[in-house]
Amino acid sequence: MSEIKTVGIIGAGQMGAGIAHVSALAGYTVLFHDVSRERIDAGLETVGKNLHRQVSKGVIEQSAVEPALRLIVPTESQADVAKAALVIEAATENEEIKKSIFKALVPHLGKDSILASNTSSISITRLASVTDRPERFIGLHFMNPVPLMKLVEIIRGVATDAATYETSRAFAESLGKTTAVSEDYPAFIVNRILAPMINEAVYSLYEGVGGVEAIDTAMKLGANHPMGPLELGDFIGLDTVLAIMHVLYDGLSDSKYRPCPLLVKYVEAGWLGKKAGRGFYDYRSGVPVPTR
Ligand code: NAD
Repeated sequence: MSEIKTVGIIGAGQMGAGIAHVSALAGYTVLFHDVSRERIDAGLETVGKNLHRQVSKGVIEQSAVEPALRLIVPTESQADVAKAALVIEAATENEEIKKSIFKALVPHLGKDSILASNTSSISITRLASVTDRPERFIGLHFMNPVPLMKLVEIIRGVATDAATYETSRAFAESLGKTTAVSEDYPAFIVNRILAPMINEAVYSLYEGVGGVEAIDTAMKLGANHPMGPLELGDFIGLDTVLAIMHVLYDGLSDSKYRPCPLLVKYVEAGWLGKKAGRGFYDYRSGVPVPTR
C-alpha cells in the first residue's frame, strides 16, 4: 500500500477548500490548485474562515490553525500538483473540464500516484479511461460541508484495483470519515436519491403546489430533514444539481429524471444558490429571503 503524505487538490471552490481543510488538519501537505491565483486565494480564505469557526465552536484548538494553514501550498502549475501521491480533482461538475484536467496531469504523475475525482455523478470508469492508469483511479465523493459531514462515498471504476481502493479508504478514514462503497452507476448512491428529491421540490414550486418556504418547512418538519430541499439545492449549488440531473437523465434514459425547467431557468439566470448570493433564496441582505 503506497504511503500518502502529500495530497494534490484541483479546484479551490466549496469542495476543494473543504478537502484541503480536513487534509491539512490531519497532517497532510496539500498542493492547492485552481485556474488562477485569485481562485486559490479565495479558497485559502475559506479554509482560514472555517478553521476559525471550528475554534470558536470548540471543535479544534486555536493552536491547530496556523500549522494547518501552513500545510496548504498554493500551487499555480498543474505539473506541480501532479507531484502528490494522491491527486483529488474537485473542479466544476463538467465531464469535459474534468477529462481535460486528467489528461493534462498524466505526463507529470509519479508511477504509483493515485488519481481521484470528487465528482457528484459522472462515471469514474469514463473519467479513468482518458488516463494512463484506470487501475489507480477512484471516486472519492466528499459531502458538503466537508469539515462537518462524516461520509466519503467511494466509487470503484470497472478497472480500479484493490490496492487503490484500500489506500483510498485508509486515507478517507485518516481524515475521520466513514466510507460507503458505491458501484459506478450514474450519480452513485447519495445523489441518485438526493438530486431527484431536490428536482421534485423544484417541480412542486414550478407547478404551484407550494411556495419556497412552504416546501422547505413541510420537508423539515414533516420528514424531519435538517434542511428543506430548496435550501439544500442552494447550498449544493443549483448548477451542480442540474448537472447531476443531466447525468441521471442521459445515463439511465428514464424520463423520471428530467430536470425541472425552473431549475434550468435559475441556472441560466446565474442564480446558482448560496455561492452566487441568490438561488431559491436571496442571501444578499444576510437573511435568506425566498425568491418565490
Ligand atoms: P465550485 O463551483 O464551488 O468550485 C469549482 C472550482 O473548480 C472553481 O473554483 C473553478 O475555478 C475550479 N475549476 C474549474 N475548472 C478548473 C480547471 N480546469 N482547473 C482547476 N480548477 C478548475 O464547485 P464545488 O461545489 O466545489 O464542486 C466541485 C466538485 O465537487 C464538482 O464535481 C461537484 O459535483 C462535487 N461535489 C459538490 C458538492 C456540493 O455540495 N457542492 C458535494 C460533493 C461533491
